Amino acid sequence: MAISIMKALQSIYMHVPKVGFEILPIEMTVGRILAQDKVASFDLPRFDNAAMDGYAVKCSDVGKTVQCTEVIYAGDNPQMTLQDTHAIKIMTGAPLPKGCEAIVPIENTTLNETGVVLPKEIYKNAHMRVAGEDIKRGEIYLHKGERITAYASALLASQGVTHISVTRRLKVAVFGTGDELRPHFEHIAPHQLYNSNTPMFLARAQELGCEVSYIAGSADTLEALKTSIQSALGADIIITSGGVSMGDKDFTKEAFTALGMVLHFDKVDIKPGKPTAFGTLGKTAVINLPGNPLASMVNFELFVRAAIRKMSGESAYHHASLTTHIQTDISLQDAKYTVKLGHFDGQGFMPFEKQLPGMLSPLLKASAMMISTPQSKSLKKGDSVKILPIAWEFTGLEEEDFFTH
Ligand code: AMP
Ligand code: MG
Repeated sequence: MAISIMKALQSIYMHVPKVGFEILPIEMTVGRILAQDKVASFDLPRFDNAAMDGYAVKCSDVGKTVQCTEVIYAGDNPQMTLQDTHAIKIMTGAPLPKGCEAIVPIENTTLNETGVVLPKEIYKNAHMRVAGEDIKRGEIYLHKGERITAYASALLASQGVTHISVTRRLKVAVFGTGDELRPHFEHIAPHQLYNSNTPMFLARAQELGCEVSYIAGSADTLEALKTSIQSALGADIIITSGGVSMGDKDFTKEAFTALGMVLHFDKVDIKPGKPTAFGTLGKTAVINLPGNPLASMVNFELFVRAAIRKMSGESAYHHASLTTHIQTDISLQDAKYTVKLGHFDGQGFMPFEKQLPGMLSPLLKASAMMISTPQSKSLKKGDSVKILPIAWEFTGLEEEDFFTH
């Protein structure tokens, strides 16, 4: 029985094993997933300070000419108290003197023989940065499950954090199956073909932050398949392609189950890629994709990418869609959940005219996919559609309906 795309995703989210974490210097964690909440150990800013180069003043001195004999620079630790009818010159980032009620920017003042002429309007707290206005001590400023970006690094450094715990890199092992396949670094006979899926998945898993290992392709026999599986067993995820359809030599699932894999689903209601299967073998997640390159790529993007996110501990592991419009008419004859690859140019989505499950050339330019439901019979140019980006990560905290109805 083929299960729905949503059920397949839920099964993956439920059954993929957890992986451990490691402690690394923050400089080495970009792209990784944080394994613990980070709580601020002090306020940011840490102390009240000037947001502009100017004068620390009292609001009651508005419009007056005041005396100024002192200066506070960034890095100073001032002990003085601001007195009425006085101003203290202060630089951006410098701690405020006691009694300061506002900062007047230099450009809003003039100097004359008797002192500094203040403007006619001064608002309380103007151009002052108050301790904790950005981050409060005790606040969670980064949550477990968030991806470390440049901006997360800045926050961590601002709290004096040197090391954090992040999920360790997932190990992904990939192999292809098929008597007709040869690795791309060997000679082939005219009736043979190069294995293009394995290099594709190895590269894609690397793009998604995984460590990868290449496993030699398997012939279409149970014994050969078992040998390949055994060499892949140390991985967190094993991805295979081929040998999952109705052919006489399609033994991939049998080989995995013979070695103890628990099969969670073996068919998905999706076109292309119906024979996609998912199981767990000890602490390893196994995804068997079909051999046809375009079909396997589509199901990799839908299911393997989701598994990688979930196993990495990312909180926003759900696929999130973009709503746009379709740039051409298309008819969808089959009553199936149908995936169309295409290009999103920022204005709209253009499905490729030429896309068959066995093709390779459409993959290169595919920046997004659209999944129509059995009810959507045809779409007209300009109709609203939902797309899932491939070219960049677009995810959400909640499950959503990403189908084009
Ligand atoms: P299968 O799923 O094994 O029935 O294979 C379906 C089609 O995909 C066949 O035409 C295979 O030759 C082709 N195919 C299978 N594996 C690969 C691969 N690793 N690279 C390129 N084509 C493949
Ligand atoms: Mg095959």
